[in-house]
Amino acid sequence: MRGGPGPDRPADEGRGGPVTADPRRQHLHGVAIPSLDAGTVFDVTVEDGVFSRIEPSGGRSGGETELWPGYTETHAHVSLPANWDDTADDPRIVALQYVYHGVTHVVDMFGFPLVADAWAAGREASTVPYPEIVHCGYAVTAMTNAAGLTGHGVEFPAPVHMIATETDLEHAIRSNVERGGTFLKVMFTDGTEQPDSPVKFSRLSRRVLEFSARIAAERGITAVIDCNTLQETRWAYECGFRLFAHSVRDRTLDAADWKEFEGARFVSTLAGLRPMIMTGEEFRAEYGREGFAETQDIRNLEFAQGIEKPYGIEFGCQETRTAALADMRRNALATLREGKLLIGTDSGNTGAYHGYSFLSELDLLRGDDASLEERLRHQATIGGRRYFDELSGDTRDAHPLSAGETATYNLHAPGRPLSALPLQTVVRGVPIDRQAVARTIAGLRAAGTDPEGEL
Ligand SMILES: [Zn+2]
Repeated sequence: MRGGPGPDRPADEGRGGPVTADPRRQHLHGVAIPSLDAGTVFDVTVEDGVFSRIEPSGGRSGGETELWPGYTETHAHVSLPANWDDTADDPRIVALQYVYHGVTHVVDMFGFPLVADAWAAGREASTVPYPEIVHCGYAVTAMTNAAGLTGHGVEFPAPVHMIATETDLEHAIRSNVERGGTFLKVMFTDGTEQPDSPVKFSRLSRRVLEFSARIAAERGITAVIDCNTLQETRWAYECGFRLFAHSVRDRTLDAADWKEFEGARFVSTLAGLRPMIMTGEEFRAEYGREGFAETQDIRNLEFAQGIEKPYGIEFGCQETRTAALADMRRNALATLREGKLLIGTDSGNTGAYHGYSFLSELDLLRGDDASLEERLRHQATIGGRRYFDELSGDTRDAHPLSAGETATYNLHAPGRPLSALPLQTVVRGVPIDRQAVARTIAGLRAAGTDPEGEL
């Protein structure tokens, strides 16, 4: 392990560290738990993978190790290829990439059934606990239109359901439920990023949007919709959608705009959109953090060495994408202030790596504003977990750090960047040994797994 306290470390390490080494029973003394009480430290006992005791043990004096729930990635595509050579990592590697970075819960936003069997087999055989996952099956999108444009989603290497009638949607929902999907992902955007940028996809009609929102609500299924622009988001909201897979990217919303979106929640996805506009220098900085070489395909590093100018210049979208990212960030931060931001990445898009990019997202949202850190970490953990529970049908509304709950958490050193790896990640009571995880990933890569062959 890297330094710092954690249940896998031997004997008493004092404040913030463990005082027992029994693998089924862990004790943390004097850790801060800001999501319970900012001014107090706690003693925490874990037995058989469950918190058995979380009790105040004094006042916080500063500098204590902080305990937070594991991170929840709220916009992932586990089966899509994140690598620049368009290869997808083996799902057994993806699972380990997540827990390595302290991401213990993953919301897959379409495509997971492609790798569901390999994931389940890997989980069965793994000594390292996998993250919990909830998924929607395959997305629904528009039919091909008269101009020959397909609905958004068709361009990815995962199937989508094209819908025009209520029966189409009923069929899609039934198929997804049969595949283990628990929520509905609706693709709506025509691909416009900024005013006057080109239309790329066909779009669902108002009638389809209305019956999709209505039928999902009738079934008690949470529906997430993929929009880019303010106008698309407005239409979707009017038709009944309240949960948006991205923040608005063609404009920074003002107070009057926000009044139209009472009760709406938005997912941030900066990390998934930024690689297109990054310079060589930015790539080398982005790939230089701890954990990249240990978990990702290092051919991406070699690739980054060769980048001279951003792809956005070549593809004619450098300015629009740069502006879109700035709008998305400002809009995401407005929802953060309201407690309505869910933190995701769109990992599985090119250059948006499973696990690693979640920590990048936190830094991108923070920018230069240190005052956002506590709220960002709160939304990335407590906020994300409540969303995960909602999507998985868990209605108990329990705080994830309470007696009787599964002991899945991260320990963080105060004062480190949000993108820093946790001091320790524990999943269902099992401490993650990062060095062992890195060796397992290396072993899986060396075994010459051919993800394309397997998928
Ligand atoms: Zn996505």
